[in-house]
Amino acid sequence: MNNLADRIAQLCCEKYNSFGKTGKPQDTEWTVLAGIVLKDAQESLSVVSLATGTKCLSGTELLDTKQWEIGSRLSDSHAEVLARRAFLRYLYHQLNLRLNDNNSDIFELDANKTICLRNNISLHYYCSQTPCGDCSIFPKIVENCVFGVNASARKRKLHANDDMEVKRAVLQEDYQCDEYDVHRTGAKCVEIDKQDSRLPGINYHLLGPIRTKPGRGDRTLSLSCSDKIAKWNIIGIQGALLSRLIPPVIIDSFCIGGQSPFSLEAMQRGICERFATRRCPVFMQSEQSFVHRKGDNRARPCPSSIIWCAVPERQLEISVDGRKQGATKKKKRGNYLLISKQELFRTFLVTVDKFNRTTASEENHPKKITYYHAKQSSATYQQSWQLLKLQSFRAWPAKPLYLQDFVLV
Ligand SMILES: [Zn+2]
Repeated sequence: MNNLADRIAQLCCEKYNSFGKTGKPQDTEWTVLAGIVLKDAQESLSVVSLATGTKCLSGTELLDTKQWEIGSRLSDSHAEVLARRAFLRYLYHQLNLRLNDNNSDIFELDANKTICLRNNISLHYYCSQTPCGDCSIFPKIVENCVFGVNASARKRKLHANDDMEVKRAVLQEDYQCDEYDVHRTGAKCVEIDKQDSRLPGINYHLLGPIRTKPGRGDRTLSLSCSDKIAKWNIIGIQGALLSRLIPPVIIDSFCIGGQSPFSLEAMQRGICERFATRRCPVFMQSEQSFVHRKGDNRARPCPSSIIWCAVPERQLEISVDGRKQGATKKKKRGNYLLISKQELFRTFLVTVDKFNRTTASEENHPKKITYYHAKQSSATYQQSWQLLKLQSFRAWPAKPLYLQDFVLV
C-alpha cells in the first residue's frame, strides 16, 4: 500500500484493532476514530496518539460541574479533540526526553540551544469521518452540481479579501444549485451570529460561521471540530501552556476515512478559506474505512471513549461522560484522566522546572498558580489568539472563568 492516505488510515485502524473490547462500540453502536501519525526522516510512519468519541457535555451539564470536578471532567469528547489531548501527553514526553539529553523523535536543539522541531519530520492527522461543523456541509451530489465550478475565481476573491463578511458572501456562492440537498451537521451557528435558514434543500445551512456542537437536549459551549481544527491550523495544536516551551506545532495533512461523505472543497473552506489564513494543509481521503463507523446497522453513538498515546507508561485510558471509567467521585489524583486539564497542568509544571534547570531559562511559576493564570502567562500565544479572535473567531464563546480557575490537587 503506497498511497499516503491509505497507509495513515491503515495504521490508525490497526492500532485501534489491537486494543481490547473495553470502551469500544457494542452491538448497534458506532463511534469516530481520530489519530495523529508521525512521519520521520526515513519516511516511516508511526501512530503517536489515537482516540474514539462522539459525545459532548451540554451547557447545562457543564455548568453543573461540581467543585471537585473542576479541571478534571472533559466537556468535549469528540475523537478529534481527545486525540489532540493525547497528543499533548506525547509532546510532553518527547520534550522531557530532550530535556534529559536523550534522543527525541520530534525535538532537537538548534544552534542557539533552543528547542525546535526536527525539520525532516511531518505530522498527519487521521479522522474516520469528516469533522463536524463547516467541513461537513456540502451538496450531496457534487459532480452534477455547479458547486465548485468557479472554484479558481472564488479562491482569488477569497485571497484578495480579509473581511469576514465579504469572505462569507463569496463562500455562499458555492450554493448555486437548488435541486440538490446538502449533507448536514448537527453543529449550530454560535448564538450571536447569523443562523441557518433550515429551509429544505441546498440552502439549509449557512457557510462560514463558527458553530457549537450538539449536546444532550441543549447547546454546548464547545466549538465544532471544524472550528477547533481551523484554530490549530493557524496558531498550532500545542495549546497555551506548551507554547511557553516549544514552537507552534502544525499538522501537515488531514486524512479522512473511507466511506465517509467527503468534499475537498468543503475541507479547504472549513479549515482555511473562511479565515484570515494563507496556510492550508493537504486534505486526502483514504479508501480504508473504519470498522465501527456510523452505518445502517450501527445507529447509536457509543457513550465511551478510548484514549491512547505513545508514551512509556499508562498509554491507554477509557472515559465515559468526560470522566475516567470506574473512578470514584472524589477529588483525588487517581480519579483523573491523564488527558484532563488537571493532569496536563501537573505535567506542564514538572516540565517547566526541568526546562529551567536545563536551559537556564526563567519560565518561573509561583507555587500555587491557577490553570487560568498559567495559560494567560503564555504571552506570545495569547497575543496570536487575541488577534485571531478579532480577525476570524469573534464569536468564539468563552468557557466560564471558574472552570479554569483551579490549582493542582
Ligand atoms: Zn466533532
